[in-house]
Amino acid sequence: MTVHVVIRYSSLGDIVLAGAVTAALGNVWFLTLPRYHDLARRLDGVVGVLAPGDPLPAGARVIDLHHNLRSLRVPAHARVERQDLRRRARVWWKAPPADPVVTRYARASAVAPRPPPWLPPARHGDALVLAPGAAHATKRWPHWQALAAAWPGPVRAVGGPGEEALVGPLGGTCEAGFERTLAAFEGAAVVCAGDTGLLHLGAALGLPVVGLFGPTTSTDGFFSYGGRALEIDLACRPCARFGGATCPVGDHLCLRGLDVDTVLQSCLAARRAAA
Ligand code: SF4
Repeated sequence: MTVHVVIRYSSLGDIVLAGAVTAALGNVWFLTLPRYHDLARRLDGVVGVLAPGDPLPAGARVIDLHHNLRSLRVPAHARVERQDLRRRARVWWKAPPADPVVTRYARASAVAPRPPPWLPPARHGDALVLAPGAAHATKRWPHWQALAAAWPGPVRAVGGPGEEALVGPLGGTCEAGFERTLAAFEGAAVVCAGDTGLLHLGAALGLPVVGLFGPTTSTDGFFSYGGRALEIDLACRPCARFGGATCPVGDHLCLRGLDVDTVLQSCLAARRAAA
C-alpha cells in the first residue's frame, strides 16, 4: 500500500479540512507543526505525524497542501494550487470565488474528497456550543450573549488562550490543549461560530454547524461540507481574505445586522434536522 506524506503546517481550520483527503488517501504521515500534532494524528487515514525536519518515510508519495516557502524545501510529488490571485481579485473586485479549499486539496491529492466526519465523531446531546472568538475582530458577531440567553437548553462556550473576554461572559473557559477543546464539543446539539477553525472542527466531529459569515463569505473556500451558513448580501462583502481589525466602511453591518432570532431559528432547525 502506498505510503503518503501530507504537508500542511498550519492552521487549525486548514488542517481539519485536510481530513477530507487523508481519509480518502489512507496510510498518511502528516507533516505539521508540533502544536497541531494532537489534531493531525486523529484525522481519519493518518497513521503518524512528523515535525518539520523529521526524515520522511522511504518511498512515500509527498503531497504539499501548504505550498509556501517553507514547504517548497521538501521535495514533493504534488502541490496544492494556491490561487492567490483569484483570492485577491475576489476581495478587490468582487470577482467569482476561488475553488474551495477541499476541492484544491483533493485535486493535488488526486482523490475524491470524503465528507465529514474526519475525526472520531463527538457524542450528540442538547447543548449549544458557541465559539465566539476569531483571530480577526471583524469576524466576531456581537450578539453571542443574547443567543445564549435564548437557547432552550445548556450552552457551552469554547475558545483559545487570549479569548477570555469573549468566552467568560458566556460561562465558558478558554481551553489549553486539544484534548480539552475536543471535550468541550462532547454532547453538542449544534455548534455555532463565525468563519473560524472551531466551526470547521465542529463539522469534522460530525456535529451540525451554523456558520456566521461577515467579512468573508461561505463561498470563499473553507465552508465546504454542507453546514448552515448565515450571511447578509452586502456589496462590500468579502472585504478581506481572512477578516481585519476594523470594518472598512465603519458600520460592521455584515455581522451586526445578523439578528439573534435568525441565528436562534437556524440553530433550532439544525438541531431538529439532526434529531
Ligand atoms: S460591513 Fe462590509 S466592509 Fe464592514 S467588515 Fe463587513 S464586509 Fe467588511
